[in-house]
Amino acid sequence: MWPILFLLALAAGGTLAAWFAQRERAVRARLRETEIALADLKTSRHLILTEEQTKQQTVFNSMVEGLLILDEDGRIQFVNPTLGILFGLQHDIRGQTLLEALRLHELQEVAQRVLIEGRVTGFEFALPGTGSRVLQVNAASFRDPDRAHAGIILVFHDLTRVKQLENLRKDFVANVSHELRTPLSLIKGYVETLLDGAKDDPEVATRFLHTIEKHADRLTFLIEDLLTISQIESGQVVLNLQPLPLRDQAEQVVNDLTSRALERKVNLHNDVPADLIVRADGDRLQQVLFNLVDNAIKYGRAGGNVRLGARRLDAKRVEGWVADDGPGIPADAGERVFERFYRVDRARSREAGGTGLGLSIVKHIIQSHGGEVRLQSEPGKGATFFYTLLVGH
Ligand code: ADP
Repeated sequence: MWPILFLLALAAGGTLAAWFAQRERAVRARLRETEIALADLKTSRHLILTEEQTKQQTVFNSMVEGLLILDEDGRIQFVNPTLGILFGLQHDIRGQTLLEALRLHELQEVAQRVLIEGRVTGFEFALPGTGSRVLQVNAASFRDPDRAHAGIILVFHDLTRVKQLENLRKDFVANVSHELRTPLSLIKGYVETLLDGAKDDPEVATRFLHTIEKHADRLTFLIEDLLTISQIESGQVVLNLQPLPLRDQAEQVVNDLTSRALERKVNLHNDVPADLIVRADGDRLQQVLFNLVDNAIKYGRAGGNVRLGARRLDAKRVEGWVADDGPGIPADAGERVFERFYRVDRARSREAGGTGLGLSIVKHIIQSHGGEVRLQSEPGKGATFFYTLLVGH
């Protein structure tokens, strides 16, 4: 009996051992699968992370704002390329403090305020050594979940252009107010004098009324010119571009200004070749030629000559000009005459009924036609204003 029982137990033991062995293999295989799955998970998490980082890097690199990140020790951890350009950085500043790298105490103070207040917005400062470059910084602290301390992110905007435009606008408003005030106060003065008794003398009254009319005309011209400038600048003007014979356009202006030229005994000559066709808006081109010829009559020599000429510049462009033989324009005023309200001789311009906007309008119109203007003048030998236009066919 015992031997049989012993054999049975042995057989059962063998089966059990085999079962355990099989079970162990299965568990090992499962473990292995889990390990592989875990490894896969890690790889894909890594991939996701690097993808996120690449995206972030691309965003940072393409930002028009400068970006700087400080770590918890106040050391520079990251800067994007725009920041390097804004501050003119020549070398890597990572690892340095703000003060070491950029040498700006106000930025250091911004960083300290951020640590206390959490964020600082709209802080403006001038970049030393760059003329009038103005930057604005917005800064905020951030807390990395793994770390106890906060880092700081600073975003820099270049405000230089905005500031320049703001100043231009302020200057423009100041100039316009001044230009409007002068004729208005003159008109008021004459009206008061008339009311005070001057009206009783018909001769004086007529003289005063003519002066009032002259200043009222000046106001009208000024407002018309201002409207033209604002229309052109705001892009409201739709040019009706057509092929036009330049000589005919010049002829029309010569006819319109003949009586004014006669007053100053100025001879007008239309030397524009008959075969030049330009692509232009007729009304606007008339305005350009009118302003140039009118100036040449006003500021040129009494009894002098004003010539309108043109030539084919190259395959695409025609160059036209208006030349006088008057006193010309000093070299230092050459570029400035195209600016709004710039006058070489203020009193003379006012006397001649000028608004100071004529050449600025000329420049705008020519530029909107894809052309350029320039002045050539030698004091004492007259002034020649050149403009280019595209060939009309
Ligand atoms: P304005 O209304 O005063 O004529 P413009 O913009 O037409 O304004 O001209 C600007 C200034 O340029 C004038 O005030 C004048 O001093 C100068 N100028 C323009 N054309 C001539 C010219 N042909 N000869 C001399 N000076 C000129």
